[in-house]
Amino acid sequence: MARTVLVTGGGTGLGKAAALRFAREGDRVAICGRRTEVLEAASREIAAAGAADVATFACDVRYDDDVAKMAAALHERWGALDVLLANAAGNFVCPAEKLSPNGWKAVIEIVLNGTFYCCSAFGRKMIEAHAADGKGRSIVTIVADYAWAAGPGVIHSASAKAGVLALTRTLAVEWARHGIRANAVSPGPFRSEGTDKNLWLDETLAREIVESIPLRRYTTAAEVAESIAFLADEAKAGYITGACLPVDGGHWLTGSHLGFLDAIARAAKP
Ligand code: NAP
Repeated sequence: MARTVLVTGGGTGLGKAAALRFAREGDRVAICGRRTEVLEAASREIAAAGAADVATFACDVRYDDDVAKMAAALHERWGALDVLLANAAGNFVCPAEKLSPNGWKAVIEIVLNGTFYCCSAFGRKMIEAHAADGKGRSIVTIVADYAWAAGPGVIHSASAKAGVLALTRTLAVEWARHGIRANAVSPGPFRSEGTDKNLWLDETLAREIVESIPLRRYTTAAEVAESIAFLADEAKAGYITGACLPVDGGHWLTGSHLGFLDAIARAAKP
């Protein structure tokens, strides 16, 4: 039966790849983001990929009232979500000593606060639905290897992703009794609108990053989406909760991300 799925930041990059993956299963797929035209373009692709229904929400996850409105509208349309993919994020490189309080807040508010607001608003509806139907539901969050290591050059994102990982594990324990599994996926570097604009400054650096990955290639958004789909699937991953799955070609094992983020931060203009 078609599941109901929301992908935050589903108009681009990994979020869109995951939305397309759910669409190919015939699910009802909602996406949100701040740019209406981006969402509209993505929604056409998602419908064409086979989604049973598509909904778009111009919603800024930094604002809990925006998220609450989206949750109410989606609940009215489809009932409780079966799957929440909390993917929306923003990032830019900046050495810690140059980062302003506003720069810090910009990332923390999207990544950490936004993830909490979405989990909270949609999680409450999932809890109510579980009390009525006993069904299993799933939350998947997106982190990065610097959530448990260090992120020189991206202290805001590293701090936010560490918070998201703690949030995911905590929800896994607190909400297990409500039939909700919560897992994180930690992608290795992949190219997207966000990385090309804000993270990787030139082709030389992009090549150096590839050389630092044991499997010697970038992952792709579509490949990461397969792991998200696996964790979200009750039949395949129904006993997995509180996990963090690196999909990174072995990158985190080498610790080499520390070097490249640092290099980017040093190269960045003040
Ligand atoms: P991306 O292309 O920049 O996509 C980010 C999405 O989030 C966009 O659709 C953006 O849409 C949305 N978004 C940003 N701020 C928002 C807000 N305040 N409210 C609602 N939506 C918002 O990024 P990506 O590279 O695909 O990254 C996807 C996820 O993977 C992120 O969680 C990222 O941290 C993680 N990740 C990426 C990499 C990588 O190498 N790319 C590595 C590790 C982890 P609008 O701008 O229209 O709002």
